[in-house]
Amino acid sequence: MQQNGPNFGSFAEAVTTLGKLTRMEGAIQAAIKNSRVPPREARKLLKCSKPVEAGNTPVFQFMRELFRRMELGELEMSSVDIFKMTFRVADCPVCKLYQNVKGKRTCYITTDTLAQFFNKDLSIPSSAEEVMCKNSGDEFCEFTVSMQPLAVYQLALDDCDREIIGQLQGAKDAATIVKATELSGAEFSYRLDALKRYHILDSSNRLTEIGETYQKFGQSFKHLDEEFPAPWKDMSEISESISASVSFAEAFTEAAETEPIFEVKNKDIVNLAEKAKSSRSFAELLSKNLSKEEE
Ligand SMILES: [Zn+2]
Repeated sequence: MQQNGPNFGSFAEAVTTLGKLTRMEGAIQAAIKNSRVPPREARKLLKCSKPVEAGNTPVFQFMRELFRRMELGELEMSSVDIFKMTFRVADCPVCKLYQNVKGKRTCYITTDTLAQFFNKDLSIPSSAEEVMCKNSGDEFCEFTVSMQPLAVYQLALDDCDREIIGQLQGAKDAATIVKATELSGAEFSYRLDALKRYHILDSSNRLTEIGETYQKFGQSFKHLDEEFPAPWKDMSEISESISASVSFAEAFTEAAETEPIFEVKNKDIVNLAEKAKSSRSFAELLSKNLSKEEE
């Protein structure tokens, strides 16, 4: 037997694992499809400067619940940076699907779900990567999501921020700006801090080079906020779609298990799992490979 794929231990274990992954894939597709987050809520997450603050946003609370329901484990916010967020899963259930794997990162399904959530539900072009994994000897699994800077600038700053930038460029003093924008002192300094983190302002509240560019092309940076209800307003609808997709996948898997799946060679399954790490849809890949076997 070749050794470059994950070692599932036995053929039966491989089949069980693939069945489980297929069910999860169905649940994830259903959940992602029903979870678009309105821009105003995504913005709250982007503006956070500390993991605790980000962890308390409605959108992160929602993500955590969603990941729990998709059986991907307990998601925690590990670090936040303007273009990068890090998430952690302790005691990762995906790792347990690959019990015999040692020295390899295995949780591509979690990585892919994070990428899909950011790209499709938050509408931020992003890529995700698993940087630590329990199966490769780390204490927990950790994932980083890298967001496209231009998209972040478009979404993170709103009309009020643009007004502050405009006023600062006109060299207005803080008191005048507070009055013009009708912000409370606390809100104003929170916004100034955010603009500094985004390198729009320097430490003495002057526009940086990035700030000047932003101001110059501000209109084209502007993001038209689409208004629709947050997906957590109706969590039951999402749960229903997840369970419907899971029972569909289960029925499919049960039927498949009694028939041609046992014709698949053990080494093909190992290769399949390896391939699946880079596959958009594991279920699609699996069904393609199965039909090829049947021919
Ligand atoms: Zn992992």
